[in-house]
Amino acid sequence: MHGLEGKVAVVTGASRGIGASIARKLASQGAKVVINYTRNEEAAHQVAADIQRAGGEVLVERADVADEAQVKQLFERTDARFGRLDILVNNAGILEFRPLDVIDRTHFQRIMDTNLWGVVCASQQAARRLGQGGRIINISSASSRTPFSALGVYAASKAAVEAFTRTLAAELGPRGITANTIFAGMVETDMTAAYTSGESSQAMIQAMIQAIPLRRVAKPEDISDIVALLASESSQWVTGQSIGATGGLVMS
Ligand code: NAP
Repeated sequence: MHGLEGKVAVVTGASRGIGASIARKLASQGAKVVINYTRNEEAAHQVAADIQRAGGEVLVERADVADEAQVKQLFERTDARFGRLDILVNNAGILEFRPLDVIDRTHFQRIMDTNLWGVVCASQQAARRLGQGGRIINISSASSRTPFSALGVYAASKAAVEAFTRTLAAELGPRGITANTIFAGMVETDMTAAYTSGESSQAMIQAMIQAIPLRRVAKPEDISDIVALLASESSQWVTGQSIGATGGLVMS
């Protein structure tokens, strides 16, 4: 027994990085998992194949979380395949560095549509299906409270996700559904690889590691372990929380 047998989880952005690790972890705990992606079909099917090899059940579904109609379809296909929903993990997200002077409407809209509107659309669909013991777990970033230059819109989108999650907790609590956020520090994924390859970036990362009490950058599993804990029965009394997974970079 692993604790999530019979449960169905939708994980957005599960083709790579943190989302792929979350899908694998929830499946290893017995959940049937819907692996959502938007572009990387092959990567999504690779995650699915790994889970199936280990005896898990999956559904792979393309949907852009920023598109309300596609999100609706994602949940309808989940209904058709599994007939229930117990856990939503809003993990899909994008990051773009943009100094203040060059922020424009397009950048703002792109980040907010995926990182915030996507969470709103998926949460709305999930809330129509979740019952007693349901879980909504949203992935935020330490940038919501520790400023990084040129990440203004991204940080604002994540701070908004945390505020939205607290509202979900208040609104859905009477139905026995919990809603929490995990805010992660830097995690080794494609998202961070994109801006950590140069020599100057390496110096920045070393400086950042010195500021992390546990003295390393996180791996996706550091985050998916906490998702599994929040998804489990043991976390039934935890709701409306923003839980830091930063190796101590941010303390509260
Ligand atoms: P990643 O490696 O870039 O992977 C992003 C995932 O999201 C991919 O599966 C991607 O699908 C999916 N995705 C992107 N836009 C989407 C959309 N519009 N609709 C559906 N799926 C979409 O990112 P990551 O580092 O794992 O980050 C995952 C989450 O953690 C994000 O919310 C991010 O903001 C947050 N986070 C990351 C870090 C970090 O240091 N890495 C730190 C704090 C918080 P495709 O493969 O199809 O493109």
